[in-house]
Amino acid sequence: MGPSMEITLFNTLTRSKAPLQTVAPGKVGLYTCGPTVYNYLHVGNYRTYVFEDVLRRGLGYLGRDVYHVMNITDVGHLTSDADTGEDKLELGAARTGKTAWEVAEFYTQTFVADSKQLNLLPPHVLCRATDHIPEQIELIQKLEKKGFTYRTSDGIYYDTDKFADYGKLMGASHKEGIKAGARVELSPEKRNPSDFAVWKFSPKDKKRQMEWDSPWGKGFPGWHIECSAMAMRYLGETFDIHCGGVDHVTIHHTNEIAQAEAATGKPFVSVWMHGEFLLMNKAKMAKSAGGFLRLADLEEKGFSPLDYRYLCLTAHYRKQLDFSWEALEGAKTAFRKLSDRAQMLDSEAKGGASDPKLAEFVERFRGRVADDLDMPGALATVWDALKPGALSEAAQLAFLTEADSVLGLGLIKAASDGLSADLQALLDQRAQARTNKDFKASDELRQKLAQAGVLVEDTAQGQRWVRR
Ligand code: AMP
Ligand code: ZN
Repeated sequence: MGPSMEITLFNTLTRSKAPLQTVAPGKVGLYTCGPTVYNYLHVGNYRTYVFEDVLRRGLGYLGRDVYHVMNITDVGHLTSDADTGEDKLELGAARTGKTAWEVAEFYTQTFVADSKQLNLLPPHVLCRATDHIPEQIELIQKLEKKGFTYRTSDGIYYDTDKFADYGKLMGASHKEGIKAGARVELSPEKRNPSDFAVWKFSPKDKKRQMEWDSPWGKGFPGWHIECSAMAMRYLGETFDIHCGGVDHVTIHHTNEIAQAEAATGKPFVSVWMHGEFLLMNKAKMAKSAGGFLRLADLEEKGFSPLDYRYLCLTAHYRKQLDFSWEALEGAKTAFRKLSDRAQMLDSEAKGGASDPKLAEFVERFRGRVADDLDMPGALATVWDALKPGALSEAAQLAFLTEADSVLGLGLIKAASDGLSADLQALLDQRAQARTNKDFKASDELRQKLAQAGVLVEDTAQGQRWVRR
């Protein structure tokens, strides 16, 4: 990895591409909205998480030190955007005969398991809304003190008229629609159609399974407050990149900005990035629409999670992707060909990788990643590098190993095979030693690992290892 390269990203906020500038040079604070855990996730959700994983890997590959925070929405998600209707988790509990807590835990675990199969790097912090109720209450209190909230019979609401910049993320045309009340029905007690609940009171006639005491009465947090509160808790009041699917632009992220910026008076996020939808039969794949597919449904038809990951890589994240079995079949064929080739090179390629053309391919690949994550372009570069005679086999292997740190397809098995517990323990100790700046200990551990055939290398993202 050479010196860090400029990275250009499309920012929903400015509706344009610009070079990434971060609060701290070389470091990126990244927040990605996690799932609502009242049901299985569908492959549409995973398209967004694959995009975010490629972003994280790409930033790391291009020399940035990424700190990734993702939330788990395990409370208080209502069935409609209008802050009315029933709670999805409590509905899920009624449907399955489990408690709301058990439902949330069950689907959180399925999400973690699926994520592993898709080679999604685990976030540095995976934070549950229910573990951060005090932070959410504190943020609401700040908003209350500054006069941004009002009380109705069912909760505490955010007055969007008080925040001059409300709706800046979605642009003027959308904003007018929302003001006119096109988006949500106007509850008689709401001052503006776009106002939203930050705290909801528990119903008087029904005991909720998830509820907390607050200065305003027993209840639960609104839809959006958890992300503003947890993002600021872990990444600071202003941080670098915040992502989600495009459906989050007009409501969820718009409201996150309103809450955070009203409370702090500072810009919340520099770059907002949104992944386009996976479509099924020309419509957004959605949990509520019935016709949705899980990873397990793909596996039943003989497709691995990584076949699906490959399919995601073939489309730019800002373009819609039509799901079809034919497209998935095509992705599977290409991915298996790539992976077979990688295996062959891994076992047979000999000699040094010092092919003068290697640097050219690497540069081209880096350029595609740095250009707003042009993964179709990056994949095309990979296929070009594998053409007979394009590079020596050793150089092809070196190139694929590098490219796969972004593609995340697990192409080079030997390098991605797990280590024994003993060796892993040495690696962990060494990481700790480096954190403690105990370089003498870290060097000794490096030597021990080398004797056991594991070569350790320090990168901006921490230590990396390969087998000798
Ligand atoms: P949710 O659990 O509904 O908050 O969704 C989790 C993530 O998946 C969010 O970032 C959504 O924007 C995203 N998402 C939902 N449906 C789709 C879809 N059909 N294609 C791509 N991303 C989606
Ligand atoms: Zn969020």
